[in-house]
Amino acid sequence: MDEVTGAQLMAESLKVQKVEYMFGIVGVPVIEVAVAAQAAGIKYVGMRNEQAACYAASAIGYLTGRPGACLVVSGPGLVHALGGMANANMNCWPVVVIGGSSDRNQETAGAFQEFPQVEACRLYSKFSARPSSLEAIPSVIEKAVRTSMYGRPGACYVDIAGDMVNANVDRSKVRVVSCCPPPPVSLADHGAVTEAISVLKAAKRPLVIVGKGAAYGRAENALREFVETSGLPFLPTPMGKGVLPDDHHNCVAAARSRALLQADAVLLLGARLNWILHFGLPPRFNPDVKVIQVDLCAEEMGNNVRPAVALLGDINAIVIQLLECVHKDGWKYPPDTEWWSTLKDKIAANAKISQALALQTALPLNYYAVFHHISQLLPQDCIIVSEGANTMDIGRTMLKNYLPRHRLDAGTFGTMGVGLGFAIAARSKNRGQRIVCVEGDSAFGFSGMEVETMCRYKLPVVIIVVNNNGIYSGVNPETWKELAKVGDLTTTAPPVSLLPEARYDEVMTAFGGRGFLVRTLEELRISLELSLSDWERPSLLNVLIDPSSDRKQQEFPWLTRAHL
Ligand code: ADP
Ligand code: MG
Repeated sequence: MDEVTGAQLMAESLKVQKVEYMFGIVGVPVIEVAVAAQAAGIKYVGMRNEQAACYAASAIGYLTGRPGACLVVSGPGLVHALGGMANANMNCWPVVVIGGSSDRNQETAGAFQEFPQVEACRLYSKFSARPSSLEAIPSVIEKAVRTSMYGRPGACYVDIAGDMVNANVDRSKVRVVSCCPPPPVSLADHGAVTEAISVLKAAKRPLVIVGKGAAYGRAENALREFVETSGLPFLPTPMGKGVLPDDHHNCVAAARSRALLQADAVLLLGARLNWILHFGLPPRFNPDVKVIQVDLCAEEMGNNVRPAVALLGDINAIVIQLLECVHKDGWKYPPDTEWWSTLKDKIAANAKISQALALQTALPLNYYAVFHHISQLLPQDCIIVSEGANTMDIGRTMLKNYLPRHRLDAGTFGTMGVGLGFAIAARSKNRGQRIVCVEGDSAFGFSGMEVETMCRYKLPVVIIVVNNNGIYSGVNPETWKELAKVGDLTTTAPPVSLLPEARYDEVMTAFGGRGFLVRTLEELRISLELSLSDWERPSLLNVLIDPSSDRKQQEFPWLTRAHL
């Protein structure tokens, strides 16, 4: 008789479903699952916190279109992973979490790390279940993988009771379940496509918005042809950056506020009208803007703004449909309109302001100077991982993306602490490209211990900590000393402050990576060049900047209080 364990069935089923990566932390009762995963040919990356493991597994989902697996132990292990599941669900990224749980015959008895795991995951996932028997494992895993990818992608959870991990079953009794194919592709209604083109043709000030749904949907080739054939200006959302290169002639990212405010027709490609796009409402949008909404999720249509045209289906397929229409009647939005001059004037004016800040050399450095010099050294094909408040906001405008799915950031949920997990995932998948994490000092702290993971697996990730001594902004070392003299720091230190000039670089050297303390532009250049030439181990540049450095004057506050 050919016997197989629960752990083996879990691992083999994941492999059959073409899950290639597993990120996790082992312990009772899932050690055997990780061992079986490696035996089945799945790459296993042992992490230091389940949150980071889940961020990593979901980034694999975004980068490849097939979920990564996240393996966690019962109780606290699973609870820590919930943050990653919530983040994946909010971002619409596929991920499958596998959780060990207490033995079935101890349930409700106060077992070790007992927790209602299947129920707990429901709020954070599209599907949450425990196979009722060993024989059911392959079909439950197939359903979890399929559900994570089909429709709007998201998180799924599969539970395995501790006693099932090492239990055996005769292999011939287990039904073989084959690999589920990629999601079926659906086209938009033909009439609606024609209507969308009429709206664009009638518009005086049209705008294309490229969201991370377009990146996930791999619409880059069709979209490039559409933008170039139609001559329309476009604007990426934060992770829509790179679907078309940031230096593309039609990119109006540097005139973002103006473009959003004055556009009279918007072709919205895989982006929700949530806080990131100011709800699509005044004061940030024209109240009469006609939105052509493209999404595969029907429930998304009409959120906050009733679309003039709703194109339901796959973005790539729909862009091809739009392209066919444009080709057929040879329409092109003229390049010499008032709208184009408005946008170009604004781009030039904004560039001047950033340029002035970027060229400042005064010490301590400001954000713009740091990003300007980083951007000059980064290879065009690098994957940029970015998080932090000012670090991410300013970095987004200063660091260019040239390729799709080459930017990973705090995303729809605004989650800080995602960076190192994302970088580990990106590095596991993209061996030939540089992965550069640009992190605020606060953001780095959430998952900082993952530098040990990077050192252990020799992942040559470059981490740049833009260190302003705090959350949003901190204080300088002299002020800190004064605060300590005045009284107990728990009563005198501003809650936003972190230890001034903390040596994050030494966290990296502690594990054998390269660490650099950077105060000047020269030190920045030398250390970044050295880091980028090392393919053997990770580096961390601890860039001390002026704690009072801030974003340049903004036309609107960061979170617009629209009246919904
Ligand atoms: P952003 O953060 O760039 O604004 P969002 O995450 O808010 O983007 O929106 C992405 C949207 O893209 C989601 O509403 C999701 O349903 C949709 N989406 C994801 N993949 C596809 C696809 N292949 N085709 C169409 N829509 C997609
Ligand atoms: Mg900071």
